[in-house]
Amino acid sequence: MIRLLDLAAEYHELKTEIDAAVGRVLESGHFVGGHEVTALEEEFASYCGVQHGVAVNSGTSALHLALLAAGIQPGDEVITVPFTFYATVAAIGYAGAIPLYVDIDPATFNIDVSKIEAAITARTRAILPVHLYGQCADMDPILEIARRHKLIVIEDAAQAHGAEYHGRRAGGIGDIGCFSFYPTKNLGAAGEGGMLTTNNPEYARTAALLRSWGEEQRYRPRLKGYNYRLPAIQAAILRVKLRSLEHWIEARRAFAAEYDRLLEDSSVARPQATPDSRHVYCLYTIRASNRDGLQRSLEAAGIQTAVHYPLPIHLMAAYADVRYKAGDFPVAEDSARTVLSLPLYPQMTTSHVEQVASNISKLAPRVLSYSNR
Ligand SMILES: *Cc1c(COP(=O)(O)O)cnc(C)c1O
Repeated sequence: MIRLLDLAAEYHELKTEIDAAVGRVLESGHFVGGHEVTALEEEFASYCGVQHGVAVNSGTSALHLALLAAGIQPGDEVITVPFTFYATVAAIGYAGAIPLYVDIDPATFNIDVSKIEAAITARTRAILPVHLYGQCADMDPILEIARRHKLIVIEDAAQAHGAEYHGRRAGGIGDIGCFSFYPTKNLGAAGEGGMLTTNNPEYARTAALLRSWGEEQRYRPRLKGYNYRLPAIQAAILRVKLRSLEHWIEARRAFAAEYDRLLEDSSVARPQATPDSRHVYCLYTIRASNRDGLQRSLEAAGIQTAVHYPLPIHLMAAYADVRYKAGDFPVAEDSARTVLSLPLYPQMTTSHVEQVASNISKLAPRVLSYSNR
């Protein structure tokens, strides 16, 4: 059985240090806030190349507080994509704002920057691009459009720790970056966690206040806030894992390059990495025309895969919106029908990659035609 990912293997790689870090927190009796949390904020902000990090209890909370800190008001519009994990859209709703969807680019699965301007209205206040699967959205045109229309740019970098775009790290390209430390992300806690990153001290201060009941002083809230704090034990574990993140990303990239090479002889479409950027392969996601059949056959061969994501947000009953209907975002809708994520994690082996790839080449062979050289 080749699994999509193996979180226990990640723990075993760092067991001694993680156990010691957890023990330290338990012995300290300091479970909420404190040194581990502030140290993680400093270390992760510096990793992203930004001034401020605000640790929170999930990526969703990071997105919610980013929108509030940026001054998004009820009724404001936020431009995002319909092809993402729905936390992106849920957070816009938590802030009372309205999501406006823009279709994705078929090559990268990220927002199609050529379609953003047509979606902007007088009530639009922000653009929320998602760096899907570990590759940054095309940020330069996004920042340029935002500057011209005076919009805030909030990056959903939940899948993109360490990803780079034109020399800048994810989370430090727009006005605010939002990360998740959910266990399956490239940097994962032993539970839930998240972080907001920014160079703007006002945004950082507001987000830090809102994260803990809006309190500047205990029991004297200055704002109506939330309980969005990151537990100290999670911060301690994340600090240990952060030291391995670069090494893990390089392992992911090497396995992805191996998949790229071995899948050349199949009919599936491999993920495309854009030039002058660093894809961190939180997910290695292919496209296959007979996706469901391929997934079933791989499962029968003992290979676990997953679909991220089977339904675009505008077609989910829970997120139904009278402004949108089937057919509105053809690239997102086609992606939902064809994408398949293959096993990929830093502790897997080249032999795993070879087995997965040879099964796919057998099940979905390259269709030869006269146009093929
Ligand atoms: C995981 C994820 C989130 C939400 O993060 P949580 O920590 O699970 O709340 C948001 N956006 C994207 C794109 C994600 O993958």
